Amino acid sequence: MLKVQNISVKYGSYTAIHDVNIDVSRGEIVVLLGSNGAGKSTTFRSISGLNKPCNGDILFDGELIHKWSPDRIVRSGIVQCAEGRKLFSAMSVYENLKMGGYVHRSKKAEIKKSLEHVFTLFPILKEKRNDAAGSLSGGQQQMLAIGRALMSQPKLMMLDEPSVGLAPLIVEQMFEVIQQINQEGTTILLAEQNANAALKIADKGYVFENGSIVMQGTSEELFADDGVRKAYIGA
Ligand code: ATP
Repeated sequence: MLKVQNISVKYGSYTAIHDVNIDVSRGEIVVLLGSNGAGKSTTFRSISGLNKPCNGDILFDGELIHKWSPDRIVRSGIVQCAEGRKLFSAMSVYENLKMGGYVHRSKKAEIKKSLEHVFTLFPILKEKRNDAAGSLSGGQQQMLAIGRALMSQPKLMMLDEPSVGLAPLIVEQMFEVIQQINQEGTTILLAEQNANAALKIADKGYVFENGSIVMQGTSEELFADDGVRKAYIGA
C-alpha cells in the first residue's frame, strides 16, 4: 500500500533522514521507534507532502506521490494526526471535526457518517461537542486529534506519538482505540517512543537512529531484541 523507497530529506545542508525504506501493507499497524530527533516526524512529513525528499520515491497504491501537494495526498487517503495535536483550541470540538472533513466538504452525507463514527468511537466528544477544544483534558484532545483525522476517511492514518504526555491508563485506552480503528479497516503508521505499548498492537516496526533505519522486524522480533528493550522499553 505504502512504499517509501530510499528517501533522504535535508533541512538546508543538514540531512535529517538518509536512505529510509518503509513498507506498509494494507490492514497493518506499523510502528516507527526512535528517540527525539531520530527522524520519525521528518519521515511522516515527507509522506504527507510537507517535506520534499531530495532523493528516493514514495508510492501509495502504486502511484508516485512525493511530488504531490499535501491536500492531494490527503484526498488520496493519507492523513497525519500530528504530534502535539495542533487543534484549533478556540474552536469547538464540532468545528474542529468539521475541519477534518474539509476534503469531503461537498459530500454532506459522508461528513455526517464520519461524524457519527467519531462520536461512536469517542462518546465524550459528543458530550463536549460545543466546548472549546482548548478546554479539553490532554487525553480528550488526543481523541479529538484522532477524530479529526478520521473525518477525512483515510485509508492510511499516521499518528505521531499519540501517547506523549498522557497518563498510563489513558495511553492504554488510546492504543485500544487505535487497534479498533485498524480493525475497522484503516491501516496505521505510528511513531512512538513508548515501544512497549506500540509493539503490543503493531505487526512490525522500524527503529530509527540519527536519521537512518538501523533495525526492522516483526513486533515479536523487536520486542525480543536486547538493544531495543534497553533503549525503548527500559528492561
Ligand atoms: P521528535 O520526536 O523530537 O519529533 P523525530 O524522531 O520525529 O523526533 P525529527 O523531528 O524528524 O525527529 O528530526 C530529525 C532531525 O532533523 C533532528 O536532528 C532535528 O533537529 C532536525 N530537524 C527537524 N525539523 C527541522 C527543521 N525544520 N529545520 C532544521 N532541522 C530540523
